[in-house]
Amino acid sequence: MLEDHLNNLGGVVEWGTSLAEIHDDDDHVEALVTRDGSRERVSARWLVGCDGGRSRVRDQVGLRLTRRDAGATFILADVTSTLPITPNEGYAYLDPDGLLLVAPMPEPDRWRIIAHVPTPVKESQLTVDALFLDELIRQRSGLEFGSHDVRWTSQFNLSHGLANHFRKGRVFLAGDAAHIHNPVGGQGLNAGVQDAHDLL
Ligand SMILES: Cc1cc2nc3c(=O)[nH]c(=O)nc-3n(C[C@H](O)[C@H](O)[C@H](O)COP(=O)(O)OP(=O)(O)OC[C@H]3O[C@@H](n4cnc5c(N)ncnc54)[C@H](O)[C@@H]3O)c2cc1C
Repeated sequence: MLEDHLNNLGGVVEWGTSLAEIHDDDDHVEALVTRDGSRERVSARWLVGCDGGRSRVRDQVGLRLTRRDAGATFILADVTSTLPITPNEGYAYLDPDGLLLVAPMPEPDRWRIIAHVPTPVKESQLTVDALFLDELIRQRSGLEFGSHDVRWTSQFNLSHGLANHFRKGRVFLAGDAAHIHNPVGGQGLNAGVQDAHDLL
């Protein structure tokens, strides 16, 4: 939707293009970008770094984002269930041990599971399989989910962070490059869009 909107305004996303370096002069910014092994210099009056939590733009201009570990691990999984629960409805459980979301996927009986759990002290990665998911869902919702065919999983440790400044010279930061949130609040993308809107 956002790309269509940009296209309608005359802009184009140049996919497969990577920012390598930035040089900020008094009256313009130069960016060195690479695509298919070739390099190109782009000159602009302003540059906005919307390049996510590990922002190269932020590093290149010497801004800092200090992360604070939230002590929790977020897990995501796409799984099939034997439970005849109503399709096309999502379920949210706010358990004292953490959040559990069960959201329907387009395929019949397939669900996206989203939850956060305390970060394990010893292992760096949790084993997110049918057994793990059934136990977690049972504890937080009482449902006997009957997980099987776990087709995709992901996990990451939660952290919070804020850049020391959102602007240096002709370079701005927006989105996760400027601030990292816990996804449970559902505010990261919204705050990033607000940053971009504020620059208009
Ligand atoms: C599980 C989960 C649930 C979430 N739920 C919500 C929610 O309900 N509501 C909400 O508002 N937010 C939510 N968020 C947060 C939201 O997804 C992020 O805040 C948002 O995607 C950040 O957007 P961004 O464009 O700033 O950064 P990103 O989405 O990280 O995009 C950065 C882009 O920059 C590109 N890039 C990086 N380096 C370079 C480089 N050197 N050259 C060229 N390109 C580069 C990357 O490839 C990427 O495409 C959630 C996040 C997670 C993980």
